[in-house]
Formats: sequence, C-alpha cells, structure tokens
Amino acid sequence: MKEKCQFCGGTVEKKTVSLDLWRKEKLYVFKNVPAKVCEQCGEKYFSSKIYSLIDKLLKEKSKPDETMVVPVMSLKRFTDEAEAVS
Ligand SMILES: [Zn+2]
Repeated sequence: MKEKCQFCGGTVEKKTVSLDLWRKEKLYVFKNVPAKVCEQCGEKYFSSKIYSLIDKLLKEKSKPDETMVVPVMSLKRFTDEAEAVS
C-alpha cells in the first residue's frame, strides 16, 4: 500500500533531500537526508529517527562537512522609501 500525503492526498515517494533549519539565528543545511516527499505538493516527511539524528548533530555542534556562503538581501532600502507600506 502506497503512503499518501497528509495535506493533499498525493503519492509519497522515498527520496534523499536537503533540509535547511534555523537555530538561534544560524542556518544549518543538512544534505543527503532520507525523506518521503509528496509528488504533488512537495511536502517532506521525515522519520523520528532522522529528527533525533538532526537534533543530535545540532546539540553536539558537530563539525560541518562543508560550509557555504549564503547571499543575504535586505529590503530595507526599498521599504524605507515605499509609502505604500503602512
Ligand atoms: Zn501533498
């Protein structure tokens, strides 16, 4: 029996995905995460085993396998001028 998405009822397939998580103002990216992904809406499902593994990695402050630079774009210079924003 195929699993169904809890949100849209679409078909859920086993995949390996990336997951980004914010913890205390810091962004962590997890790669090669086994998940089940809805083919219709893209909702990702992770097992409790994966969640506890991620928790463990965050708590242990494990040395990252790699670090990437993330571009940050501020809208401040636009919103300061935009009178429409109220
Ligand atoms: Zn879905």
